[in-house]
Amino acid sequence: MFTLDLRQAFREAGCPICRLRAKMDGRHLYNLLYENVTDGTTRMHIARSKGLCQEHAWELQAIEQEHWGNGLGVGIIYEDLASHVVGTLSAYLAANPEPRAARQARLRERLERSGFIRQWLGRRLLRPSPADSLLESLAAVEPCRVCELIGGLVEIKVGWLVEELADPEFLALYAASDGLCLPHLRRALALARDEEAVRWLAEVALNRLAPLAADAAEYVRKIDWSNRHEPKHPWEQVSWVRAVAFFSGEARAERKADVYELRRTALAEYHTRSKDMRPSCEGVYDTHCPGASWPDGMESSGALSRAGGRAAGRDRPCPG
Ligand SMILES: [Zn+2]
Ligand SMILES: [Zn+2]
Repeated sequence: MFTLDLRQAFREAGCPICRLRAKMDGRHLYNLLYENVTDGTTRMHIARSKGLCQEHAWELQAIEQEHWGNGLGVGIIYEDLASHVVGTLSAYLAANPEPRAARQARLRERLERSGFIRQWLGRRLLRPSPADSLLESLAAVEPCRVCELIGGLVEIKVGWLVEELADPEFLALYAASDGLCLPHLRRALALARDEEAVRWLAEVALNRLAPLAADAAEYVRKIDWSNRHEPKHPWEQVSWVRAVAFFSGEARAERKADVYELRRTALAEYHTRSKDMRPSCEGVYDTHCPGASWPDGMESSGALSRAGGRAAGRDRPCPG
């Protein structure tokens, strides 16, 4: 039965479509790690979208850590992406040495300051934004593949939900559920084919939202010092959290404590590492420091060495 998972989701807490979406996301990301890390098509899409979106990338990281206890798949995917971006940045810096860029900016400023024709020439002959070519190289040329695939499946589920509302038993199950969040309510309304379905969707939404709005108002009112002695109902105390869920969809499931711990450790390690990437030999690391060399495939840049040296500096201290 097509709607079996929907009927099941109606019995769970929160927006049923958000629940289904989270399950589909989890399954897809698990399969990606299990059998598609080295798949050419998957890798091509991930390269074209410059990684997954923020939400799915962190889901992927957490799923691998929780299921496999390491980051081999994520490491393979992101090492590949990172080396491409390193290549892009290195190529840009090699092709655009600082003096030329500074000269071009000064010339453009002079042209733009004097007269319409010169302004036009300045815009026409010199790039309007100095970052255009680099931006183009760093741009994602397609959206997150998981968003795209799961988004399509969610759309099918919402379509089934709307179609099945004509079935009294299905409608009763839906009416007893926690109702749709606003983003999914909008999708359901857009897919409704008759006014009856629109009315059912609106009615269920109103029945869920009106008490929530009243609870949130009470919560705010009772925070006031003059009303502090009034009894506070438990549902009022959490109404503000559920209001966020209604307007933005359900929050993602909590991960194991290890996942948060590893993320905190990674953040702290690389915060320290960034501080260590300072220039040696008084800021001219790559020209004056004989013990230094760039990691394979990276070219040095005068601008970068002045701005803060490079990662290799930490592991290979300047002998001078
Ligand atoms: Zn939802
Ligand atoms: Zn995504």
